Amino acid sequence: MSYDSQNIFAKILRAENPCNKVYEDDATLAFMDIMPQAPGHTIVIPKEPAMTLFDLSGAGAANLIQVVQRVAAAVKQAMQAEGIMLMQLNGAAAGQTVDHIHFHIIPGSMHNLGKHASSGNVADDLAALAEKISACLT
Ligand code: 5GP
Repeated sequence: MSYDSQNIFAKILRAENPCNKVYEDDATLAFMDIMPQAPGHTIVIPKEPAMTLFDLSGAGAANLIQVVQRVAAAVKQAMQAEGIMLMQLNGAAAGQTVDHIHFHIIPGSMHNLGKHASSGNVADDLAALAEKISACLT
């Protein structure tokens, strides 16, 4: 299977689909998940077209985890979360639903986690949350 440039995150990267942006640089974009598993659920993606971690270049992976570290710190502060979960799914067999590598940053505890990628999840004001998290980036 090869990279499908019509996947949802590729469309967000090309600004064909909207997102509530938290952070962007030359290689990376972070935005709010529209079906959050907890309030503040944020997604970080590289701009490099790669389906899974195994398709991403080493340099891309190194950059991505550094941005995840920064954005996760901002999510932690903005959401006043004691704990932060990172999730990164590779392949449909693992539950991956969007075929562009990404990290999930989810505040809170795995014991109170909402269902994954479920349209039943309640999204708070994502624009306000994106702004709040963005303001905590250092
Ligand atoms: P995966 O299952 O691939 O690990 O995660 C994909 C994530 O993307 C899910 O948490 C899902 O809620 C989120 N998602 C799906 N479609 C969209 C969309 O159009 N916009 C945003 N912001 N998130 C999306």
